[in-house]
Amino acid sequence: MKEAKILIKRGRVIDPLTGIDQIADVLISDNKIQSVDTNIDLIADPDVMEISAEGLVVCPGFVDLHAHLREPGFEYKETIATGTKAAVKGGFTSVCAMPNTDPAIDTPSMIEFVKMKGKSDASCRVYPIGAVTKSRKGKSIVDFLEMYSAGAVAFSDDGDPVYDSEIMRLALEYAGPLNVPIMNHCQDLTISPNGVMAEGEVSELLGLKGIPNSVEEVMVARDIALCKATGSKVHVSHVSSAGSVELIRLAKSQGINITSEVCPHHLTLTDEAVLTDGGYFAASPGNAYDTNAKMYPPLRGESDVDALIHGVQTGVIDCIATDHAPHDVVSKHTTFDCASFGISVFETAVGSLLSLVRDQTLSLPKMIEALTIAPCRVLGDAFEEYGTLKEGTVADVILIDPEIDWVVDTKEFVSKGKNTPLEGQRLKGRVVLSLVDGQIMFDELEK
Ligand SMILES: [Zn+2]
Ligand SMILES: [Zn+2]
Repeated sequence: MKEAKILIKRGRVIDPLTGIDQIADVLISDNKIQSVDTNIDLIADPDVMEISAEGLVVCPGFVDLHAHLREPGFEYKETIATGTKAAVKGGFTSVCAMPNTDPAIDTPSMIEFVKMKGKSDASCRVYPIGAVTKSRKGKSIVDFLEMYSAGAVAFSDDGDPVYDSEIMRLALEYAGPLNVPIMNHCQDLTISPNGVMAEGEVSELLGLKGIPNSVEEVMVARDIALCKATGSKVHVSHVSSAGSVELIRLAKSQGINITSEVCPHHLTLTDEAVLTDGGYFAASPGNAYDTNAKMYPPLRGESDVDALIHGVQTGVIDCIATDHAPHDVVSKHTTFDCASFGISVFETAVGSLLSLVRDQTLSLPKMIEALTIAPCRVLGDAFEEYGTLKEGTVADVILIDPEIDWVVDTKEFVSKGKNTPLEGQRLKGRVVLSLVDGQIMFDELEK
């Protein structure tokens, strides 16, 4: 069957790879970007489906380097089906799935499982990240070549750090020739092992055990040294402290092959979010100890937030990744100390990031770059066709309405994870259409 053509008319087209930022039309044909031009007129063509994008932003679909789709093993928290449905609602057309499942994604057959589920159940592209160590126990490394050949796009023990420095060095030696990144969750486990939120005034006020910035910075410094020694690709997951930004800036200035990501919540919220309970299950809104504000790394202070935003704007931090980490009710509806780390992010990412654009602390093209071409560069040559609207590339395209006012209501989330510190908050801007491979996978244009 001949695929219909889609013509997206008169949107603000932003494609950081080609440098386009202008009002233009985008023509999609045979699941590919056929052309981007100021006026494409196909009125006489009966096969064309025309979409008016006046007042909307048209850009490549977002590529998320860091999400927890929870399958297999934790289907009560999320599945590949529900997670990717939430992803396309948030504009993410490619999602890298973290391997801290049960069993962990640490063999070629587990990689095959995620790929197979991605093909049969997912609303967007799903790429498996393989574990660095067997069962993610940090003791012995997986077979990198076999896992890579099966389809692993990167390696990570996320949820835990690759703690042993010799294991990290070995992993980098093996991953180096494959040109794939090792993504590390930087956490020195010996510093403040029972910490539950950022160390500071708020943790003191609430009597909660703090997690100082040094927990992250110690391991970022180690990874920079190992990155320099091996020449392999290190990617720092979810950077949260100003000190880490400075370490990465210095490393990059010396030509060290390190990349990093930051999450929307670390760019927009501080540890004060723990004080306010606007949660889904809040018996009495206004109480502190909001478990919906508990994630790893924790929300930190204002100076950290400022350094992170500046890091993205100046390119020190390459990417914005969600660390979408959905949980079931029981894991969160408990005391702050006992609650699981992690929040649901896909469906609020754009709305919260656009607040930075309106404040003029982050430019819209930079925000889009950090969500599209930058993560593709981290993943390497195989992703050249993604994260852009260049002619001839795959048609993963999204439309954003930057002016829609809406209130975060987790009852409307398609993710199974209803945990977000943004519950009840007013956001401005959301994704209204997502195309994956030229197919409409999310459509809210008429609303
Ligand atoms: Zn992590
Ligand atoms: Zn994570």
